Amino acid sequence: MSDDEYFFLNPEHTDPKRLKKEREKARELRQSSWWKQKIAQGLCHYCGRKFPPKELTMDHLVPLARGGTSTKNNLVPACKECNAKKKLKTPVDELLSQISQKPENDE
Ligand SMILES: [Zn+2]
Repeated sequence: MSDDEYFFLNPEHTDPKRLKKEREKARELRQSSWWKQKIAQGLCHYCGRKFPPKELTMDHLVPLARGGTSTKNNLVPACKECNAKKKLKTPVDELLSQISQKPENDE
């Protein structure tokens, strides 16, 4: 797969119904003991630094808008800094999430 193909957005991948379903799955997994154990370790997947579980966010390795799914092997803990950096690299995802996702409050 070339870089161009990687950045091409497949309309099937960005189908709002699919994104909604995958976000719901992610939300469910966020409540699971599997995820709680993961963030209890406190390690950011990207920088490898340690953080309090509260500061780690759930990140999709392959963004949903690029065909990623909310499965355990596509979800990793990321610190806010890495999450923000990743977003800068993927402005399309940022745009999509602004359009179709309201800010989540899990507190
Ligand atoms: Zn990090």
